[in-house]
Amino acid sequence: MKNYGLAKRILVTGGAGFIGSHLCEKLLDEGHEVVCVDNFYTGRRANIAHLVANPMFEILRHDICFPLYVEVDEIYNLACPASPIHYQFDPVQTTKTSVHGAINMLGLAKRVKARILQASTSEVYGDPAVHPQDESYWGNVNPIGLRSCYDEGKRCAETLFFDYHRQHKLKIKVARIFNTYGPRMHPNDGRVISNFIIQALQNQNITVYGDGSQTRSFCYVDDLIDSLIRFMNSPDDFIGPVNLGSPSEISILELAQKIIELTESKSEIVYEPLPKDDPHQRQPAIDLAKRQLGWEPKTKLEDGLRKAIEYFKAIV
Ligand code: NAD
Ligand code: UDP
Repeated sequence: MKNYGLAKRILVTGGAGFIGSHLCEKLLDEGHEVVCVDNFYTGRRANIAHLVANPMFEILRHDICFPLYVEVDEIYNLACPASPIHYQFDPVQTTKTSVHGAINMLGLAKRVKARILQASTSEVYGDPAVHPQDESYWGNVNPIGLRSCYDEGKRCAETLFFDYHRQHKLKIKVARIFNTYGPRMHPNDGRVISNFIIQALQNQNITVYGDGSQTRSFCYVDDLIDSLIRFMNSPDDFIGPVNLGSPSEISILELAQKIIELTESKSEIVYEPLPKDDPHQRQPAIDLAKRQLGWEPKTKLEDGLRKAIEYFKAIV
């Protein structure tokens, strides 16, 4: 659907990443001008190669830990490595990206009076002591563990967003994104869906960490993008935080079995040690998103997994 007459100039930080590239594509499709900012830390040119010829699309290689001067109407702040392997590789840089990056993007939003959306995360709930998690829960986060650079960085970014809103009247939106999957996930990011699909396609052992009883709730990327855009376009007084993700929960062992079945793989399941601070269960309560955004995920896990499998078949 084109948006002639209502077109905006929209900044997407982390636009060459997995979620960012789908967001850039959708915003262009709606007729907007998109400025994609990325330092290519985990993002890849291949993710946005098909957008480069579009005259409404612009790429800037830039690290958001440094100030940025562009004129835009809206900002989606997605820049940040998201998989444990990547965010733990250089944990100090991860916190800097979340915190300095947020300060720079909020400063930009303040100067140009842009509406700004933060890609926060279910990790702000840590290893949750309540289940399912709703937005009123303050979380159970280890402040000094291996995941803390990401979890605490994102928590501090939320604080900054709310303080810029209270102190400077900025128009903010804070989205708590839960596990998302689909085409363009990084093949080496160590996340469970990419790992299992690649292992299954290559008939290698499927590495379940722990006994596989830990749970996650996986949202297909197209559904997530729909929710982010609805949230950005929602009334000014709905600022979040709002959970965006799928409420349908599955254990990691069941996920392994499903992927073996869908790929008709000969892989066997092997058990490896559970990483430290790995959350035992995770499932979003999405009543707020349903009520305020009229949104809930539509894609069934099997259908989304089939699309992700097709993607990985083509690249590995
Ligand atoms: P990704 O790693 O594919 O994308 C992140 C992008 O940010 C990459 O293109 C990377 O190069 C870029 N980047 C990193 N540091 C940067 C910096 N300092 N300056 C500029 N660019 C930088 O990850 P993703 O899965 O697409 O996640 C996007 C956002 O959504 C992240 O903020 C992440 O925390 C959040 N999120 C993702 C999930 C998920 O399941 N994928 C869940 C919760 C939250
Ligand atoms: N996991 C697993 N095998 C893998 C990769 C991950 O069993 O090869 C588990 C991991 O321990 C966690 C879950 O799958 O319990 C989801 O991991 P992921 O890194 O995808 O996301 P996050 O832990 O950040 O939700």
